[in-house]
Amino acid sequence: MRRPLVMGNWKLNGSKAMVADLIKGLDAELKGVDNVDVAIAPPVMYLDLAEQLLSKAESKIFLGNQNVDTNTSGAFTGDVSAQMLKDFGVTHVIIGHSERREYHAESDEFIAQKFATLKENGLTPVFCIGESEAQNEAGETEAVCARQIDAIINALGVDALNGAVIAYEPIWAIGTGKAATAEDAQRIHATIRAHIAEKSEDVAKNVVIQYGGSVKPENAEAYFAQPDIDGALVGGASLDAKGFAAIVKAAANSAK
Ligand code: PEP
Repeated sequence: MRRPLVMGNWKLNGSKAMVADLIKGLDAELKGVDNVDVAIAPPVMYLDLAEQLLSKAESKIFLGNQNVDTNTSGAFTGDVSAQMLKDFGVTHVIIGHSERREYHAESDEFIAQKFATLKENGLTPVFCIGESEAQNEAGETEAVCARQIDAIINALGVDALNGAVIAYEPIWAIGTGKAATAEDAQRIHATIRAHIAEKSEDVAKNVVIQYGGSVKPENAEAYFAQPDIDGALVGGASLDAKGFAAIVKAAANSAK
């Protein structure tokens, strides 16, 4: 049985006051909610504060980050290593997000190196894949997702996906309010799982595949009712404690 993961990607948003309010609100809303894993990824600057607040509240919320570098130490100005993230209690790390692929020109190969770094350090990759609007309209969605997954499988072997999380995020749905329908998302999730199953049925059966792209409290339940959707990666709606908690509760209630 797969345990859903709902993860909040706070992106470049926050302040000390906001981090404190959001964590306090979330922890209160989520006490006693079971059958679902929850993670938050604040900006790296606030990991220290977030770790302290989560630990003081004895919270079950996992701490995540939005990026990792492939180097361990040395002359890499501005970068943050996997070891540093671990030092601050981070367990889940988003890689391959379309915003990093686009604004930082991250290639499939570089993302595979990041994936390897996380695995070597016992961190959970939350590996984002998904097609652009033009690729969607050209009927290339399945091929794009397969190519992005194959970059990992070809570099590291299919077993590397064991314990990792895949987030299917159609780029045209991110931050636009134009979410994929639950049925369309399910169809793509099933295709992704089938693609992995060509290499290993066991890995395909167990890998958590989240949907991401304009998930809100109003549409979350429909996604989680789908057999191949195991939680969500949430951007905008993760900045509101009540709204994010409602999405988490929808995932908990849908435990398959
Ligand atoms: C994201 O950035 O991963 C995301 C899914 O954003 P939003 O929920 O705002 O569409």
